[in-house]
Amino acid sequence: AKDYGKNNYRFYTVDMNKKIVEKLEMSNSLRRALERKELLLYYQPQVDLEKGKIVGVEALVRWNHPIWGMVSPVKFIPIAEETGMIMAIGEWVLREACSQSKKWREAGYPSIGFGVNLSAQQFQQQDLVEMIHSIILENELEPQHLELEITESLAMKDLEHTVDILKRLRSLGIKIALDDFGTGYSSLNYLKQLPIDTLKIDKSFVNDITMGSNEEAIAKSLITLAHSMSLIVTAEGIETKDQYMFLQEQCCDKAQGYLFSKPLPPDALERLLVEESVG
Ligand code: C2E
Ligand code: CA
Ligand code: CA
Ligand code: CA
Repeated sequence: AKDYGKNNYRFYTVDMNKKIVEKLEMSNSLRRALERKELLLYYQPQVDLEKGKIVGVEALVRWNHPIWGMVSPVKFIPIAEETGMIMAIGEWVLREACSQSKKWREAGYPSIGFGVNLSAQQFQQQDLVEMIHSIILENELEPQHLELEITESLAMKDLEHTVDILKRLRSLGIKIALDDFGTGYSSLNYLKQLPIDTLKIDKSFVNDITMGSNEEAIAKSLITLAHSMSLIVTAEGIETKDQYMFLQEQCCDKAQGYLFSKPLPPDALERLLVEESVG
């Protein structure tokens, strides 16, 4: 029994070491990813459920590593957050998304909204509001076309500070969405205090919508709640026609999911916009 325990311990540390080495390797490469232009943005359409039209996109960062290929943000964003690299990456994402918006506007595409994710750490950046303002000016973007997505855990960290920043961003005309709604702490009392425009219902509630399920009831009440607070509702992770019809019935405003499209590189999204305008 003694030996067994010892071995177990050894395997455990080997496994742990492997994880640590992997993480170190990744953070070292990530440090160079920006200057080597290995990061890129994909865009996932957001569809207005009443009009059935693309009214916006969410920008989602990708890392195209020369050896590892496409690395998921689920893997590298946490490392970027732990190491502070998220500041530079987050700024690059904002600038890239806004400059894409300018390109599409100049090429004559219909004007659409741009959703951009913000990490909690970015709220600690002293000049965050000024930085975002100058990116908007640089790209002559209509501020209401930029929707910053924040999460509940971010807002919870320092509510007073968060509310202050959000107010300043909104006074510039920028929209704010609360992302992954329903998965975090979700105190309704504190939702009331957040100056936001949109609630994004997390895909876990949308994915499991089937007649009479708990998720159906939850999705229904989240939509009602949001509307009673005059918020716009975006549902994430729509994959089936049934989910689409259910959400439409519940007067959900917008939706995003594989049913319409996966996140796409800019040229593929352009083709989608053209297809749509042609009919
Ligand atoms: P998120 O903000 O909740 O983004 C939605 C995620 O759901 C995306 O994953 C998207 O590809 C995926 N998704 C969309 N529709 C469907 C669907 O119908 N079914 C399923 N199963 N999934 C769907 P992705 O692109 O891998 O991004 C994962 C997360 O990484 C994001 O979750 C966000 O938290 C983070 N992230 C991505 N880009 C950025 C960024 O630029 N900055 C920051 N701070 N975080 C980012
Ligand atoms: Ca998001
Ligand atoms: Ca989300
Ligand atoms: Ca998420």
